[in-house]
Amino acid sequence: MEHSTAVAYGSSYPAWCVENDAHDPYARRNKEFDYILIHEMAHEWWGNAVSTDHWGNFWIHEGFGTYAEGVWVEFTAGLEAADAFFARKMRGMARRGSVYRGDHPASGDAYSGLIYSKGSAILHHLRHCVDDDELWWKTLTEFNMTYRYKNAGTDEFQAILEANTEREWGQFFKEWFYGEGTPRLNGDVQADGATLRVDVTMEGDFHLPLDVTWTEAGEPKSHRFELVEGKNSLKLECSATPTDIAVPHIGRLPGRHKVEAH
Ligand SMILES: [Zn+2]
Repeated sequence: MEHSTAVAYGSSYPAWCVENDAHDPYARRNKEFDYILIHEMAHEWWGNAVSTDHWGNFWIHEGFGTYAEGVWVEFTAGLEAADAFFARKMRGMARRGSVYRGDHPASGDAYSGLIYSKGSAILHHLRHCVDDDELWWKTLTEFNMTYRYKNAGTDEFQAILEANTEREWGQFFKEWFYGEGTPRLNGDVQADGATLRVDVTMEGDFHLPLDVTWTEAGEPKSHRFELVEGKNSLKLECSATPTDIAVPHIGRLPGRHKVEAH
């Protein structure tokens, strides 16, 4: 429990259990790292310092708190491990319901696993969409510093994000935060002579960036394609036949996807 300045630790003490040869009842949950410790500590920033303006925006506590767990994974094991961490969060989540818990609900009604799992995964996805880590961490720091010891909601976070990135993010929040469900991608990315072809169908009304990497005349290349609902048939003319085609960041796109690169 995230009491201000003093976390009450209600899980287990993995290190103590190992040292004292004691049974650890939560060993399975703490298999990868002592996530309770990271999560509750994160609430000193998200929940205790910056508190939600109303329970509909409960994810400011739990989505951001769970996001910090993934940041810890990235810090200790790398970004690929963090991608896998958030992909697991997405797989385990309910498909119905939105991260936004409604206009001024009672705290009990606002509670949902979605604010943890999808809430954290959409922050990881948002960072990928921002595509500029400096601006991303600046946004999180500024949001925390501006609303430290105050209340703030999603609109305040969005406003700081928009000021830093000089981009409009209303559609992102509409699809991922206020909306329900996740998209599904199916298709291929392949070379057709010197043309790179993306033929991918999206189920669900979302906008997703699909990063493609390849080698062209010995040089590494990359391009971000923007995908929308329905059939996407996109082409990029290259100077030579692209080889080693890959879609390296597909794990940062919430949803179940099958995109093959040939
Ligand atoms: Zn929490």
